Amino acid sequence: MLFTLYCLVPSYWARNRSKKIIRTGSPLNKEVALTFDDGPNPEYTPRLLDILKEYQVPASFFCLGRQAALYPDIIKRIAREGHIIGCHSYSHRHAWLMPPFYTMRDIKRTYETITRITGNPPKWYRPPWGHFNAVSIYAAKRLNLNIALWSVEARDWALDTTPEYIYNIVIDKCDKGSIIVLHDNRGTSGAPVKALRALPYIISSLHEKGYKFVTLDRMKEALNA
Ligand SMILES: [Zn+2]
Repeated sequence: MLFTLYCLVPSYWARNRSKKIIRTGSPLNKEVALTFDDGPNPEYTPRLLDILKEYQVPASFFCLGRQAALYPDIIKRIAREGHIIGCHSYSHRHAWLMPPFYTMRDIKRTYETITRITGNPPKWYRPPWGHFNAVSIYAAKRLNLNIALWSVEARDWALDTTPEYIYNIVIDKCDKGSIIVLHDNRGTSGAPVKALRALPYIISSLHEKGYKFVTLDRMKEALNA
């Protein structure tokens, strides 16, 4: 019963019912958002930033507080190059395994770590695996964090995934307002390389189809317009 109230109900509500939690942008605009979870990573994130710079595409990064503390210069570069930095928890613990006090502390610690490095408080939160508990939703609200999930994922973290698979899934599923999630850290060994290989093709193909890449800030603005 407690598990249902603390974990299942908040997760179900957030993922399916809440009108405030963003899962897609406006279906009227030919805009998509690229989001990257779990970083920063000293090997992959700079390469990812190089690609985004080359194609002049903005993205939104859901960073781990632990990684941010280890690699503050990469966090600064993400911010400097005009991308959004959001909180993705401190050390990627599942919301269903975290007691209330720990949940609050985990989100706050991530928020404070990012704020300390960039000088700006983050405005976005996405929990690991898109799972919530009752306190994580409350904590995000108290810290004025907008919550964003995603609508397109391509199993880029999995062992058997190839860059071609990632490309095909993203291009196949992308629609107006899609929020694409990829990863620049964690997953199976070397997994982010596959997303990095697919990314230039994904960007070029979506550009050719007339899509514009936007940050989650812009997507939220368009939803409220
Ligand atoms: Zn994650």
